Amino acid sequence: MTNFLIVSKADGLSEYSKIAVEYGVGYEYNDFFNPKVLDDAELQDSIINKYRESKVPEYCTMHGAFFDVIPFSYDSRIRAVSEERMIQSIEIARRIGAKAVVFHTNANPFLTSEKYIEQMVLATSEFVGKLLDEYRDINIYLENMFDSSPDILRKISERLVKYPNYGICFDYAHASISPTPIDVWVESIGKYVRHIHINDNDLKNDLHLAVGTGKIDWERFRIYYYKYFRECTVLIETDSPANQVKSLKYIRTLLDMDSSEKRSVKDMALKKYISGAEEMMESIFHYMAELLEEKKFSNTVGILTELGSTIANADRASFWFWDKQDKQYWTLAATGNDRIVIPEGTGIVGKTIQEDKVIITNNPYEEDFFNPEVDKKTGYKSKSILCIPVENTSGEVVGAFQVLNKFDENGDDGLFDNGDARRLTLVAAFCEKTLESYMLYNEAMVDELTKLPNRYAFYEYYNKKAVRFMEDRDMWVIMCDIDHFKMVNDTYGHNNGDFILKNVAAILNESVSEDNIVVRWGGEEFVFIVSGSNLEEVKQFADSIRKDIEKHEFNTGKEIINITMSFGVSRADKNVTIEENVHRADDRLYMAKDSGRNRVV
Ligand code: GH3
Ligand code: MG
Ligand code: MG
Repeated sequence: MTNFLIVSKADGLSEYSKIAVEYGVGYEYNDFFNPKVLDDAELQDSIINKYRESKVPEYCTMHGAFFDVIPFSYDSRIRAVSEERMIQSIEIARRIGAKAVVFHTNANPFLTSEKYIEQMVLATSEFVGKLLDEYRDINIYLENMFDSSPDILRKISERLVKYPNYGICFDYAHASISPTPIDVWVESIGKYVRHIHINDNDLKNDLHLAVGTGKIDWERFRIYYYKYFRECTVLIETDSPANQVKSLKYIRTLLDMDSSEKRSVKDMALKKYISGAEEMMESIFHYMAELLEEKKFSNTVGILTELGSTIANADRASFWFWDKQDKQYWTLAATGNDRIVIPEGTGIVGKTIQEDKVIITNNPYEEDFFNPEVDKKTGYKSKSILCIPVENTSGEVVGAFQVLNKFDENGDDGLFDNGDARRLTLVAAFCEKTLESYMLYNEAMVDELTKLPNRYAFYEYYNKKAVRFMEDRDMWVIMCDIDHFKMVNDTYGHNNGDFILKNVAAILNESVSEDNIVVRWGGEEFVFIVSGSNLEEVKQFADSIRKDIEKHEFNTGKEIINITMSFGVSRADKNVTIEENVHRADDRLYMAKDSGRNRVV
């Protein structure tokens, strides 16, 4: 993986060095942005010596100074220090032999005036231009920091692209958190990118998780990688060696799947190829043991698809669920919890489900029932497909299990046959059982009318998550109730009452973050449990929902109905029972009702 790098630090160098050798990756030195190091020539020497004493990879880059470094500041003294820090960084990079230095744009995302951005772009381009001119032996890369869009980097790049040693360091994780969609980023600055920082996160916070363990859509990254970034160097930007290894393994599998990397796909296929009955049994036992350990639905499905692709000697496998209500099929994407959805009745999955029979094609693009849309979305090329229906215990079809791209004993393209289909019935049966228990669980936890979690889910959330959260932050219970809802029912009828409940639920659900929960407690009563640093903040949160409801026009198609809600807020106390905590919020709600409704107490 010669164009890949890991974060390195002189402290713990032996760990990084082991990984570098094993995976053939370079370093991005992370020792020198520290102001203490920048100000201490002796310390610099000792760090550089530590590296020299170990075996340093051939290609390394360096992260330059970034704390408070604002070379475009209006304040000339801040500018002077920033420029000094950047020059120091480059001088060190030269001494240690780094091929590139990375600096953040450091634009303040909250200063959005044209004037600020213009000053930022001009001053940065001017100074970095000077550096590029003076230090031609070193690449200088500018990295998006908290930039909310690619605009600033694009504008700077347009000015600096004339320097052969200029490039963008595209921090894919930062961009994934920004309000701008990732495809806009890639399309806007892709051509200037020469270096990439990757790590995973929850699409909200800059968590620097191992790649593949957060919510970033890596299938999509794979597509961009092959379209724009093949020539780029890529840094796994996490400093824990364990997460670096996890990430490298993940990335290796992810990127090797492209058919243009024929050799490594073949290597992988050969490694995976199962020939005899004994090997087959062994792998079945291996996955069964994993299955028994696993509780999470998406992981269980993941293990089953692994098992399926293994026993059919296929490159990939997926389990498609038939959502009869929404008339579609969906599958979990190979990474994370994202879903890929296709309309009911389409493609090979559709044919398999509708006709309730096994479909094999070793030439999908020639078949009129093949739907190339999923390939287009994932960037994958289907060469052979086997799809079998999955039935429940009453014999009704509930989905389909599909394997793609058979390989033979040489790792070359192979052909699926009925033997593969027979072996896969084992996996299909397991998928059905998994799905069944998942649906039973969901039915028990989700309110039928509003689709919100119900009271049982609240208890589950409280005991499993909220209690843990309370160890290091304040959690709050908010209880709310629609005002005079009986009158709404009496005036507009029960159906319209239901309609309002559904829409209120959607508004409430919109307002909670992924870590928190709102449930339908019963009737027209809902309970939140949310984190918040103080009462004022949580009161404001509740009040903004109150206002949203108050101004919302519930349009039944015939009439427009307005309603209000009352809220009671109380801090969750980890030393009392869950019932007591809810009871305290309920008391406040009662006070809100008693003092006139449509308010937060
Ligand atoms: P208050 O402002 O004091 O809360 O008055 P209210 O009328 O909202 O309270 P009350 O508890 O007297 O009435 C609640 C009403 O909510 C009565 C019940 O018919 C209605 N309700 C409860 N669940 C449902 C439901 O699922 N659908 C519909 N349409 N109405 C429901
Ligand atoms: Mg970065
Ligand atoms: Mg009410």
